[in-house]
Amino acid sequence: MQTVDVLVVGAGLAGLHTARLLARRGLDVMVADRRRSLSAGIRTTGIFVRRTLDDFDLPDRLLGPGIRDVLLYPPSRRSPVRLTSDRDEYRVADMAAVYEHARRAAESAGARVLLGVRYDGMSAGLVRFVGAEPVTARFVVGADGARSRVARDLGLDVNRRLLVGAEIVHPIAPGATAPAFHCVLDPRVAPGYLGWVIDDGWHAHVGVAGYPGAMRTGIRHLLDAFAEDAPGRSAPTGPVERRGGPIPVGGVLRRLACPAGLLVGDAAGAVSPLTAGGLDPCLRMSELAAAVAADYLRTGDTRVLSRYDGGALRARFRGRLLLRRVFAGIRSPAAAEAAVTALRGRAGRTLAARILFGDGSFPDVGPRLAGPVRSA
Ligand SMILES: Cc1cc2nc3c(=O)[nH]c(=O)nc-3n(C[C@H](O)[C@H](O)[C@H](O)COP(=O)(O)OP(=O)(O)OC[C@H]3O[C@@H](n4cnc5c(N)ncnc54)[C@H](O)[C@@H]3O)c2cc1C
Repeated sequence: MQTVDVLVVGAGLAGLHTARLLARRGLDVMVADRRRSLSAGIRTTGIFVRRTLDDFDLPDRLLGPGIRDVLLYPPSRRSPVRLTSDRDEYRVADMAAVYEHARRAAESAGARVLLGVRYDGMSAGLVRFVGAEPVTARFVVGADGARSRVARDLGLDVNRRLLVGAEIVHPIAPGATAPAFHCVLDPRVAPGYLGWVIDDGWHAHVGVAGYPGAMRTGIRHLLDAFAEDAPGRSAPTGPVERRGGPIPVGGVLRRLACPAGLLVGDAAGAVSPLTAGGLDPCLRMSELAAAVAADYLRTGDTRVLSRYDGGALRARFRGRLLLRRVFAGIRSPAAAEAAVTALRGRAGRTLAARILFGDGSFPDVGPRLAGPVRSA
């Protein structure tokens, strides 16, 4: 039977990035994902924010052109509030290419990536799969998404507050539109979140997300209704792809690590509760997770694990969680119209620009690494 230092379950952005960082530290790392191909079953629009692009090295060729304009629409779709930044704020990535790039980076660092292999449980370090022989792992990283099975098996915290999102993606006639991010606040199609069209000049992504309990007719129906006359949408010039999945919005989970493993990405609840952006935290928190896991495996000192402390990080989410509650409270079209009207004034525009163009969607986690090791 094979033995590895670290088994990473999930080859999304969080899993592949963590695997790369761990392998770079000389650990024997295996990644297993149930997807047969990294270009199948994509669950994200792929909007990267400026802060991520500033802090992490994503090759330019994987990213669409910069987007500076955001238009916020009320349910009537009339007179959107337009916010324009003086710099590029968003770029939509070709996610299949991003995953492939992350996989090659992990493999170049020495990690093995197995596709078409489903994690099926563990006991006493022995990990079972469907599609491969079991392995013995010293440490397991749960990067298996919002409904993490690894989190449950490790006895760590699990996500309980989830939105569900779905979108269609299709090519559009290049150069026919100016790249922009259209956001529609309308609880009839996106209760608790937004409907969106993001057009990077090459592809249009048209999506809705919201609380599943409030989407009585089902998300697919709501998405199709929204897409029919979504503002800013251009006609498809090629195949239409569908994407979707759950989005944890309860903030980073408290208990993220134990001597048998830890959680990263959506499995850790590492998503901005307000914007529902999770790609930045996939990269940002994985840096800390990999440093802590490597230190723990080198020293065997369980106190090291206290540096990967979701409880401490949660304290920095209070404001964002409060705004999430405000967002969730917008339940009628009239309330949404009033909210967009409030954003037209100076204070409203400043707040919207801070949320949409600011650097605060997810806190920096790096400095905690420098902190003292506390008792577990
Ligand atoms: C519709 C939608 C649009 C979004 N758009 C954006 C956006 O534009 N920008 C942004 O910042 N965030 C966005 N998000 C959130 C963001 O995409 C996620 O936070 C992020 O992709 C999570 O990455 P991850 O690696 O943690 O999880 P995932 O990408 O979900 O990867 C988990 C992996 O684990 C694998 N897996 C699961 N169970 C098993 C098992 N038992 N065995 C083996 N493998 C398993 C899955 O196949 C998957 O590959 C969006 C989310 C949704 C749903």
